[in-house]
Amino acid sequence: MSRLLKNDTVVVLAGKDKGKKGKVLRVMPSERKAIVENINMQTRHLRPTRENPKGGKASFEGLINVTDLMLVCPRCQKNTRVGYMILQDKTKRRVCKKCQEII
Ligand SMILES: [Zn+2]
Repeated sequence: MSRLLKNDTVVVLAGKDKGKKGKVLRVMPSERKAIVENINMQTRHLRPTRENPKGGKASFEGLINVTDLMLVCPRCQKNTRVGYMILQDKTKRRVCKKCQEII
């Protein structure tokens, strides 16, 4: 299981958006990267098209290393590390290291 999941709230630990919080939009566990709402915004210049004759700019979220992100616990609202526990039915759940709640 990935340390971070879609819709988690995370805080950025490094880079130009350090200290900002955002919602995880996508996680790419194999690359250990994620896309977080309004974090690491990139701008791309668009070629003029028939629909948009002047061209323009499009902004979108760039990939960010998951090591530069820390989970904000939805239970205690603290920045936390993620732990794991195995339930009796053998399913693995994430727990907050601060408040020990399943998240
Ligand atoms: Zn917590």
